[in-house]
Amino acid sequence: MLALPVLVRATPLTSARTTTRRLASISRHLSTTPTIMAPISKEADYLVIGGGSGGLASARAASAKFGTKTMVVESKRLGGTCVNVGCVPKKVTYNAAFIAETIHQAKDYGFRVQETAPFDWTTFKHKRDAYVKRLNGIYERNLVNDKVEYVRGWARLVSKNEVEVTTDDGEKSIVRAKKILLAVGGNPTAGPANIPGHEHGIDSDGFFDIETLPKKVALVGAGYIAVEFAGMFNALGVETHLFIRHEHFLRSFDPMIQEAVTNEYERLGVILHKNSSQSRVEKDAQTGKLSIHYKDAGGEGVLGDVDHLIWAIGRTAATQNIGLEEAGVKLGSKGHVIVDEYQNTSVDNIYSLGDATGPVDLTPVAIAAGRRLAARLFGPPEFKALKLDYGNIPSVVFSHPEVGSIGLSEPQAVEKYGRDNLKIYKTAFTAMYYAMMEPDQKGPTSYKLICAGPDEKVVGLHILGLGSGEMLQGFGVAIKMGATKADFDSCVAIHPTSAEELVTLK
Ligand SMILES: Cc1cc2nc3c(=O)[nH]c(=O)nc-3n(C[C@H](O)[C@H](O)[C@H](O)COP(=O)(O)OP(=O)(O)OC[C@H]3O[C@@H](n4cnc5c(N)ncnc54)[C@H](O)[C@@H]3O)c2cc1C
Repeated sequence: MLALPVLVRATPLTSARTTTRRLASISRHLSTTPTIMAPISKEADYLVIGGGSGGLASARAASAKFGTKTMVVESKRLGGTCVNVGCVPKKVTYNAAFIAETIHQAKDYGFRVQETAPFDWTTFKHKRDAYVKRLNGIYERNLVNDKVEYVRGWARLVSKNEVEVTTDDGEKSIVRAKKILLAVGGNPTAGPANIPGHEHGIDSDGFFDIETLPKKVALVGAGYIAVEFAGMFNALGVETHLFIRHEHFLRSFDPMIQEAVTNEYERLGVILHKNSSQSRVEKDAQTGKLSIHYKDAGGEGVLGDVDHLIWAIGRTAATQNIGLEEAGVKLGSKGHVIVDEYQNTSVDNIYSLGDATGPVDLTPVAIAAGRRLAARLFGPPEFKALKLDYGNIPSVVFSHPEVGSIGLSEPQAVEKYGRDNLKIYKTAFTAMYYAMMEPDQKGPTSYKLICAGPDEKVVGLHILGLGSGEMLQGFGVAIKMGATKADFDSCVAIHPTSAEELVTLK
């Protein structure tokens, strides 16, 4: 495994960049008074399109660590999907849902907690927005500190080393760049155009604009975003309908996870419409409420009085209409930029990473790829072979309960190693947290370790239950290092925890 070495070089500065220009750019976005704009640079050594997770990480590393003259062009808010309409506001909302569950469970521990009013979604939402706004400011200051030129505008390739930048005020400039990074991310896939009224639904971006606590919501989708949103709504007291096309959701995860979490959602009161499809959506002109015509395992039906319908049916790479085809950058059938393992596109000196390329749409993946790319392109010779190892990337779903997963699912392991070469260790138990609770309050905990070959190398670890998100990171390190079942067993258990079960599996 190739790890990114610690970078100890001093930070040289390029003389051409002026603080004035950057400050002018910043004040333009932060202040309400008109500012005299400094023109944007006409040249850059590294032009990064997209100020999200991957773009910012790569740009900052290129400039701060290697003194590269770097420009970032971002059309929306700095931080991209994760900060504005993804991981960050999602996790804050998950925390609120977690607190709601805890309040509910507290009485079993002897607390007299009386909820006197429903969850104050509006106040919470505004605080969450303010937090995200603070982060936007921090990201902007980080660019100043790292001497990256930040341009708020829309970027479009006009040739393999020229980018047209249209700033917010409509001014167009051509920037010549020695190297270009496409870190344009993705957008939620729109509701299916063949369903009349699909436009009455919103997407995952719209979730973060909801101003008041809904009474009833419907979500369509079986991926982690749909499942996380449904779990949060349900925990916050909203009547929650989740439409999935098959029997289970989270279908890219190990079957143990699919089955256990789907069952748990039903137990918790999420109304699952399995094997379902939608045929029409109507909006009541007076009340604004939606009616969803659908078919599911129980037959045809209409779900009325819905406050919000959320399409969470996937994400599409934001690679259209930015001149990629004209510059010769090849795209895959689903619109992702095709890259090799070093993030090279089909065009010399144009690179891409993150959600624009896949295959793993996660913030730390985009960041890690971005930093390695900057080191490879602009760092000293010993970094020239740096690339991200896309194997064994841990991922977590903030569902109820949390899910953690790394490595191969059981079907994938069977396909790769053959059933006879695998040993599967499993356990399902009730975490001690639930010991004080009535049977109907007890959530599930299940762990699975998939081991391959005579030395029982751990090739898959799948966990669900309280704390799985935090637990996975450490086990991820072990698996990344090639741990075997014997290594797991050699680690003395920590008692009393749930995690100890993973080092005592029989
Ligand atoms: C609801 C939700 C929850 C998520 N939760 C998690 C999570 O818990 N953990 C996790 O790891 N990941 C999570 N993700 C995924 C994560 O947000 C993405 O994987 C990550 O943001 C990808 O980073 P990126 O740099 O590739 O793209 P982005 O962060 O999307 O950044 C791309 C940027 O490029 C800009 N841009 C696009 N085209 C242009 C152009 N032509 N000119 C100028 N600017 C342009 C966009 O405005 C955007 O800001 C979540 C995503 C969603 C939607």
